[in-house]
Amino acid sequence: MSDESNESKKTESDHSHSDSISLRARGNLFDIASQQFNKAADAVGLDPDVRAILEQPKNELIINFPVRLDDGRYKIFKGYRVQHNNLLGPFKGGLRYHHEANLDEMKALATWMTYKSALHDIPFGGSKGGIKFNPRDYSENELQRITRRFTHALGNNIGPEWDIPAPDVGTNAQIMVWMMDTYMNVISYQEKNSVRRIVTGKSIASGGSHGRAEATGKGLVFCIEQWARDNNFDLDGAHIAIQGYGNVGSYTARLLAKQGAVIIGVGDVGGYITNSEGLNPHKLSEHCAKTGTVAGYKNAQSISRMDFFGLECHIFVPAALELEIAAQEAKRLRCKLVAEGANGPTHPVGERILLERGIEFIPDILANSGGVVVSYFEWLQNKRAERWEYEEVVRRLEKRMVSTYQTVRKYAHDNNLDMRTACYGLALERLQAAYHERGIFP
Ligand code: NAD
Repeated sequence: MSDESNESKKTESDHSHSDSISLRARGNLFDIASQQFNKAADAVGLDPDVRAILEQPKNELIINFPVRLDDGRYKIFKGYRVQHNNLLGPFKGGLRYHHEANLDEMKALATWMTYKSALHDIPFGGSKGGIKFNPRDYSENELQRITRRFTHALGNNIGPEWDIPAPDVGTNAQIMVWMMDTYMNVISYQEKNSVRRIVTGKSIASGGSHGRAEATGKGLVFCIEQWARDNNFDLDGAHIAIQGYGNVGSYTARLLAKQGAVIIGVGDVGGYITNSEGLNPHKLSEHCAKTGTVAGYKNAQSISRMDFFGLECHIFVPAALELEIAAQEAKRLRCKLVAEGANGPTHPVGERILLERGIEFIPDILANSGGVVVSYFEWLQNKRAERWEYEEVVRRLEKRMVSTYQTVRKYAHDNNLDMRTACYGLALERLQAAYHERGIFP
């Protein structure tokens, strides 16, 4: 059976949600990342040579690899790893399992990782990878074989001082542990324990960091708190709508609810629900763990995707996939703030409408950067053979998120830039300074 015909059969379940939008129908993600880059490069007057280097990723790898399924058949999977830049440190970026994964998406996501690390002054570059398939259609054993075979196929294209994967959409701590174990098993016995940091986002038992699982949600909430402080806004009683109830969305919901915020609507690939009195995010997580979706949760009303975007709330958190806020959604949103948990959730046209309508936003490369910050802490702990207490991790995360948020705010104000362009601008200035000092070899 061909790759494509098998894929279409396997992915039917993911399209069951009637008005979900195909990412590809909304434009090429790398073109959109390039538009954002060019806007910021113009704003900071980026050196044309530096611009030419950063415009494209350094390396783009596509691997087609076979895996035996439970029924004995073999299937060819398509995997990607794109390495955008490693000027400031090893390539660093997540691994995504999704049926629409494609090279241009990986290029955009890898590019954003470079700027996310540079923005925080973390000694990492940017990369991203993935496999084009829907993990929900495969057994645990098949997932393990797919992950191990891909890790093996990547070979020396990843490494603890070269390129370090982490979880993203469709992957989790278990997937990272299988990657680590596979990598450890193909190098010499003597080196095994020195390469534990080949991936981050591992489970605690296998060398992960306390606080990594919730790091992205926590980082997002630290940013929202700063915005609330700057705007004299009380989070207690604030109404929140969240699209995506996976790692980022569900932790964000639980953390905001802890501060008294009311989660009035959530949605995921299975559908959208609302309750104006507030959804209990803990019970909703339990429901999701059992059924794989927020749809069907009792004590809530089912609504359409477009009605969800029209819910009146204070803060809207896109925490699902890219380009979910295009023109029609941006016109419908009735909120004060969009806090981008997902990577690239806002189409440039949608962003223009949000800005015209006076809706503020905290851009992805800042808002969801808590994950890479704690990944860096995990990598450091592994490198030093240390284990930091949970409180220590959270304290360091908060310090870094608050200081970066305030630096961006001031830079945006001083240079009359929107928040996204300010994030890019700061990151580009750091990269440019390093290029100017080091020069281009030879
Ligand atoms: P996840 O796989 O844990 O959850 C994804 C969620 O999005 C699920 O609830 C899923 O049902 C929903 N979803 C998928 N397709 C959808 C569609 N068409 N319509 C509505 N909902 C849909 O993934 P995650 O790790 O929470 O990542 C979510 C976003 O955050 C992604 O953009 C990812 O790149 C970004 N991000 C994640 C991390 C991290 O640490 N996990 C860090 C930074 C950024």
